[in-house]
Formats: sequence, structure tokens, C-alpha cells
Amino acid sequence: MKERIATNLKKVLADLPEGVRLVAVSKFHPVEELREAYDAGQRIFGESQVQELQRKVAAMPSDVEWHFIGHLQTNKVKYLAPYVSMIHAVDSLKLLREIDRQAAKNDRVIDVLLELHIAEEETKYGFSPSDCRELLASGEWRELRHVRICGLMMMATYTDDTKQIRLEMEQAQSLFHELKANYFAEEPSFCERSWGMSHDYRIALETGATLVRIGTTIFGERVY
Ligand SMILES: *Cc1c(COP(=O)(O)O)cnc(C)c1O
Repeated sequence: MKERIATNLKKVLADLPEGVRLVAVSKFHPVEELREAYDAGQRIFGESQVQELQRKVAAMPSDVEWHFIGHLQTNKVKYLAPYVSMIHAVDSLKLLREIDRQAAKNDRVIDVLLELHIAEEETKYGFSPSDCRELLASGEWRELRHVRICGLMMMATYTDDTKQIRLEMEQAQSLFHELKANYFAEEPSFCERSWGMSHDYRIALETGATLVRIGTTIFGERVY
């Protein structure tokens, strides 16, 4: 039992090509389990709830890179701003502005990804490809000196249909390249594609992912 997480972690890492980073999604798992992954060498952890994250930050070593992967309300940005390494799911200009404001207060530049909504599932969150183009075309983001847009994040439809998953990830990849060419050609930091979870990360690796967010395969089922 004790070595379970370390073993799972090593298996996942062995699947990842050079240049792809693993976000170990530890939401709903106790700190002892994060510690086990940490002791096995993992440094990037993904969480999706602010309070839970706060508690874990206090309990874990300071060289952990915390990625916030869930939906983030603007009124909670202030809690993350002092330490968060990357915010994956920026889904509005309002949120982007607030991250900029709170990052400025902390004298930091915070790395963010724009969340794309391509999946068929009804969700309130994420930019459609056209909204995403519009946001960048509007240009206001250029004035936000304390956020750095590093790429795109998406979640494919939750389905067994691997063709559909692949299609959605390919759409995300193609939008990434379009935006890169149109707005970030001179910005090496715009390079991240965050897609792929436990059930679909192998497809993600074939469709350009640079950050995979994997929870269940490493830590086991979550108990909510
Ligand atoms: C929970 C979560 C994951 C991890 O999902 P698993 O299926 O456990 O690998 C990845 N991304 C996001 C945005 C999540 O909320």
C-alpha cells in the first residue's frame, strides 16, 4: 500500500515524452498522499478548490509548484495570488483582470492558460474558439502586465469514443497554433497545451499536450 502512489507515479512518468510535464491532480486526497508523491520526486500539484489548496500549501514543502485547475471565482483570486504557479482555467476577461490586479499587489507575474470550451457537454465555463479569438483581438490583455498568457487548457468530452476525444484535442491544438502565429509568435512563453486526464492522456500526448493533469491514475478514486 505504502508504495502504491510512487509506483503509479513512475508508470505515468514513463509514458510522458521529453518536454511534457505532469500536474499531479491531488484534489480530495489527503496531504499524506501528496507527501508520498512529493517524496517520489513530484513537484507540480493540481488542486481545484481554494480552501483545500490553502490548507495543503501550509502543510507541504515550499518548493511545490501549485497549479490551480478548477473554476476560479474572481473574489477568491486574492487568496492564491501570493504563491500560485499557474492558473489553468481562465474563462473571462474579468477573471484575467482580477488576476492581474492581485498579482500586481503581490509584485508578481502570474502564468495563466485560457480555458477552451470545445466539448459537447453543457458547461458554463470556458471560451468558445470564437470568443477566444475575440478576446485576443480586443487587445486589452496586452495592458495587463502582471499576467502572462502561456497557452490553452481544455477538457475533452467525457466519453469512451476516442475518435471524438481526439477530434476535440486536435481542434484545441489547431487553435493553439493559430493564436500562437497571430499573437504570440515572438513569445516563447506561449507554449503550453494543458489537456489529458487519467482516461485520455495518451490521446493528449498525440495531440500536442505539454501539461497533462492526472489524478485518479496516480492517487486512486476520489472520495467526495
Ligand atoms: C479532477 C481534474 C483532473 C484529473 O482527473 P482524473 O480523471 O482524476 O485524472 C484533470 N483536470 C481537471 C480540470 C480536473 O478538475
